Amino acid sequence: MAKGRVTFDTDYCKGCGLCVSVCPKDVLALRTDQLNKKGYRPAYDKNPEDCIACTNCAITCPDSVISVYRLD
Ligand code: SF4
Ligand code: SF4
Repeated sequence: MAKGRVTFDTDYCKGCGLCVSVCPKDVLALRTDQLNKKGYRPAYDKNPEDCIACTNCAITCPDSVISVYRLD
């Protein structure tokens, strides 16, 4: 299975959680300990090692916050 990594334009995230809900590997979560510049709890990669580069999160994000990279 492919290995991937995700990066975030964190300050553009509105904390809607859509990316979290569509990730099949439970990689993503919303921060509970910090806010971005807009005052939202942004998404981050809680379990980065589990990403399979499926791109569901990047396709779903309404604000194009997420970029997906294949590592293999
Ligand atoms: S690319 Fe796929 S596996 Fe990786 S974080 Fe996004 S939805 Fe999850
Ligand atoms: S879908 Fe986009 S805007 Fe919504 S929480 Fe995820 S990264 Fe943030």
